[in-house]
Amino acid sequence: MSSIQQNLELITAQIASAQQKCGRAPGSVQLLAVSKTKPVEAILEAAAAGQRSFGENYVQEGCDKVQFFATQHPELDLEWHFIGPLQSNKTRLIAEHFDWMHTIDRAKIAQRLSEQRPAHLPPLQVLIQVNTSGETSKSGISAQQLFPLAELISTLPGLTLRGLMSIPENVTDYQSQLAAFQQLAALKQQLADKFDGIDTLSMGMSGDMDAAIEAGSTIVRIGTAIFGQRDYSQKG
Ligand SMILES: *Cc1c(COP(=O)(O)O)cnc(C)c1O
Repeated sequence: MSSIQQNLELITAQIASAQQKCGRAPGSVQLLAVSKTKPVEAILEAAAAGQRSFGENYVQEGCDKVQFFATQHPELDLEWHFIGPLQSNKTRLIAEHFDWMHTIDRAKIAQRLSEQRPAHLPPLQVLIQVNTSGETSKSGISAQQLFPLAELISTLPGLTLRGLMSIPENVTDYQSQLAAFQQLAALKQQLADKFDGIDTLSMGMSGDMDAAIEAGSTIVRIGTAIFGQRDYSQKG
């Protein structure tokens, strides 16, 4: 067995155990394999082990991979999630290639993605990125800005609003992690009370996955623990 396959087994077992510990149903948390900077061979190995959803951060690299798998391996039927920051001049590429977009944080991006979503594809499944810790260095909107943006997205035909994504402040103690994730879960509940089809909370990474799952995460985003350390020397 390759190390990627072994890593996937370990993470999958960790997710299952975290789900069980807090009484959540098996399969209620999806593993998003974050493959940014990793070659298509690594993605093929993960796909051979049964992994179907992949997350990418860089527009051109992500689109190249989506294109590669669509033409060379359509049988794998992979699902692609964009999880990086997006400039408005790059929205067309995301609208044309991806299935999910996790990091919507302003009206202009939402409007462009909807306009540019090709008619032959289903609506882009989107999450609004929120920043409840108020750190200025991180992207994402405040809780107050969330509802007007959700209102707008709900009117856009090319997008389907599914929930929230967040990258909370990096803290190591479990109770602080849990408190931050519970705040996000409460916000998602408020959103679900107002809008139909809200069922997704993308939160939790390698270091805080257990707390995220206890708080109600439905997608955890894991890269290094599956694919190993990233080499950024090729990136500008
Ligand atoms: C890179 C990245 C991850 C995965 O991080 P690892 O430390 O490699 O597990 C998760 N979420 C987002 C938004 C990322 O950019």
